Amino acid sequence: MAQPGTDGHPLRVAIIGAGPAGYYAADQLLRQSGLVVEVDMFDRLPTPYGLVRAGVAPDHQKIKSVTAAFDKVAANPRFRSYGYVDFGKDLTLADLRAHYHQILYSTGAQTDRRMDIPGEDLRGSHPATEFVAWYNGHPDYRDCRFDLQEERAAVVGVGNVAVDVARILCRSAEELATTDISDYALDALRRSRIKEVYLLGRRGPAQAAFTNPEIKELGELADADITALPEEVELDALSRAALERSPDRATLKKVEILQGYALRNASVKSRTLIVRFLVSPVELVGNAAGQVTAIRLVKNELYATPAGTLQPRATNRFEELPVGLVFRSVGYRGVPLPGVPFNEKWGVILNEKGRVLAPDTQQPVVGEYAAGWIKRGPTGVIGTNKPDAAETVTGMLEDLTRGVYLHPSQPTADAAEALIRLRQPDYVSYADWLRLNELEISRGRPLGRPRVKFTSVEEMLAALGR
Ligand code: NAP
Repeated sequence: MAQPGTDGHPLRVAIIGAGPAGYYAADQLLRQSGLVVEVDMFDRLPTPYGLVRAGVAPDHQKIKSVTAAFDKVAANPRFRSYGYVDFGKDLTLADLRAHYHQILYSTGAQTDRRMDIPGEDLRGSHPATEFVAWYNGHPDYRDCRFDLQEERAAVVGVGNVAVDVARILCRSAEELATTDISDYALDALRRSRIKEVYLLGRRGPAQAAFTNPEIKELGELADADITALPEEVELDALSRAALERSPDRATLKKVEILQGYALRNASVKSRTLIVRFLVSPVELVGNAAGQVTAIRLVKNELYATPAGTLQPRATNRFEELPVGLVFRSVGYRGVPLPGVPFNEKWGVILNEKGRVLAPDTQQPVVGEYAAGWIKRGPTGVIGTNKPDAAETVTGMLEDLTRGVYLHPSQPTADAAEALIRLRQPDYVSYADWLRLNELEISRGRPLGRPRVKFTSVEEMLAALGR
């Protein structure tokens, strides 16, 4: 048969995962001139947008406006969306191979990295990723429990996720009440007795992973003040030398913001956020009931690796911070998909520039691709996924031109839809999602909130009259 990509014989692409990487890839595929592409996008949740809905903090609504661009993609008549269809359960890889010329995985990074220290599984110790998914109303995490009756919490890591967690813990009920935070989280946070939140960085202020707007925002909270220890925000000799060799304005500004925090007067607000540097957790200490009561830290110093990066090295000085809650925010991690080669060490699909590789030969697997965090790991902002998806799509189009693609026995939209109806009669189309979206927005309107989210699949299906 002739190469797909014409009106009579469109190129059929399945995308697994309806987050930013999936949408950017769909957009680029559908924009190709002279090539007729049909995209079917699958997500295991009824709702689209991946981390834009379930990861971006509720008090960062502006960032979520990127969904307008995704809605435009979804409005293309050659795009179909199948929510609440679980790859590996409702649809197998063999099913996809029978219906599509190319398959793109954009499933993100669904779990967290561990600290690998004693006590990590005590009650009160949680992955930040679960807290984030919980406050954002992700159906799989709505039943998580976080004991916000504790007065002191530690967040391990100083990336933007750690900052999000610390900020949400420190926001006042009034600040949260105007966001789209899940109702149950709003309720729990309203009753929160948290007074002190520690953000714990293992290296120094110049190496902190958070970005400047995010750390600045922590200094502007309505009812929480921020502080740092003067000796910990002073630059060490190695960091100073590195900055003198290659002055980086953003890093200099970051250090200046943090040094400003160390000079602030004692807090008069209800909550205090304490940013610490050059400390690593070595153990979570628990009581007889198995509940975290403290985090034991070792003081670090920096050393230069042969490659020139500054890394932490433990000293023999220890301290213990009494805390009843610990959130580890030391990075997300991808989860393997059934039948798809995976790099366990990196937590990503085994791939080169988005082409999935066979583990034994390291050669591309025909017709399979990856984009976003499941391709490159959990780095960068939402927009980073645009060039990332473009790289993958370029490979897909090159392969198409070379005649390297799958040869499905049933390459039509109708055949795919018939199979999906059979496997998951409750699938949620884009039109269904738009109805859910309207309902969420109208529930929020009288409360002055952007939306009140549905947080369980049953609720969503009931709202659609199923
Ligand atoms: P991240 O930026 O990679 O930060 C991870 C943090 O964990 C780093 O401070 C890292 O320290 C630390 N860490 C790693 N292993 C550790 C260990 N064993 N002990 C102590 N600390 C450890 O990751 P992220 O915060 O999960 O964010 C993921 C991506 O999403 C980032 O690109 C982030 O910028 C982005 N994001 C952006 C926003 C926003 O734009 N507002 C919001 C959320 C997330 P080292 O540097 O020493 O390794």
